[in-house]
Amino acid sequence: MFATLSDRLTSTFKNLRSKGRLSEADIDATVREIRRALLDADVAVTVVREFTGKVRERALSAEVSGALNPAQQVVKIVNDELVSVLGGDQRPLRFAKTPPTVILLAGLQGAGKTTLAGKLAQHLREKGHTPLLVAADLQRPNAVTQLQVVGERAGVPVFAPHPGAQEGAEHLPGASAGDPVAVARDGVATARSRQHDVVIVDTAGRLGVDAEMMQQAADIRDAVQPDEILFVIDAMIGQDAVTTAQAFADGVGFTGVVLSKLDGDARGGAALSVASVTGRPILFASTGEKLTDFEVFHPDRMAGRILD
Ligand code: GDP
Repeated sequence: MFATLSDRLTSTFKNLRSKGRLSEADIDATVREIRRALLDADVAVTVVREFTGKVRERALSAEVSGALNPAQQVVKIVNDELVSVLGGDQRPLRFAKTPPTVILLAGLQGAGKTTLAGKLAQHLREKGHTPLLVAADLQRPNAVTQLQVVGERAGVPVFAPHPGAQEGAEHLPGASAGDPVAVARDGVATARSRQHDVVIVDTAGRLGVDAEMMQQAADIRDAVQPDEILFVIDAMIGQDAVTTAQAFADGVGFTGVVLSKLDGDARGGAALSVASVTGRPILFASTGEKLTDFEVFHPDRMAGRILD
């Protein structure tokens, strides 16, 4: 991820290194190259426009400082703006004052929700929490089984509806099959009675944005009153990221974003667009199929990697 963007930006900055002082024409040429690199990386046009506008303005008004040469100054400005477009400061997960903390996962089918549910559960367990996973994705035939497999690997129990339990797999008794809202509600009640301090509710997605799916996610949201609604988005979907994120923001609302498949070789535009367009921070990143391919998202570290 970001390899091409990273190379393009690095070579843009290399051209500046020989310059003692930057003229307005130098800055304009640099900003043009940055604009092209971002657009080629599938960053949303609105985000690119704002980003390059800020970089140009700051580069033009930059004081000639003793510490940094002009090229370093431009790199610093671009770095600062990348951090800002990625959401600024790292925002930790918000826990409820009175447990359990309810985390709802939303996103398109295939976005990586179920995988993420296992990763997040393992991450929280390692931090000393006692999570419960709730299988409220009843759309996909094997989603419940998949969550049970993931839960078992993560060492975290799964609340699942009957039937759907994998033969031999440990599972908690669930609510009536077929009603995801009831499953989610019963899952949270079970977490409360068994003193799990976090509940992660996996929900159904469709291949495209659709009103029925949004309504179901909104109904689950209303039933379980989540402390966090995490919108999981496949970083490979490029320009579609923005419209999909906006549809979820309008249809369900979310408090944070998880970028999945950041290990892919896509151009990374989704990562750079979503926080900025929705105004919601990126909390975590998923970087592979294994449970350990998971990281807390730090905007400054990600910007550093892009400009490395
Ligand atoms: P869901 O439909 O949103 O629950 O998506 P899944 O969790 O089932 O993931 C869909 C596919 O993407 C599965 O084959 C996962 O193994 C794969 N996947 C999920 N997260 C990642 C990731 O971060 N990187 C890669 N390479 N694959 C992933």
